[in-house]
Amino acid sequence: MAVAPSKRSLMLRLSCPHCEQACMPTLQKLFLAPSSSINCKSCGRGVTLRWSHYLLVVVPGVLLLVVLNRYFAGIELFITGLVPVLLICILQLMLPLQKDRF
Ligand SMILES: [Zn+2]
Repeated sequence: MAVAPSKRSLMLRLSCPHCEQACMPTLQKLFLAPSSSINCKSCGRGVTLRWSHYLLVVVPGVLLLVVLNRYFAGIELFITGLVPVLLICILQLMLPLQKDRF
């Protein structure tokens, strides 16, 4: 059984809070921040991320990056840098979108 597009966008939280359609490509969400907004490709209205959700992803991710590089400096920088960044990217894709106030 194939996964419907709506299921896929639900997992990655790409559905628009206005029209419930997929509103942006996956990669574009990685560059979305609460201070910016993107227009939904289906209905054209603005969507953004909530500050509280964004900080719940970014702050622990940056702390993990600092801790890994402070205490596991013997490990390749490639690994200690890549793991937190990948974690931030995956978690950011799971954040729900919200309607832009403007
Ligand atoms: Zn929309």
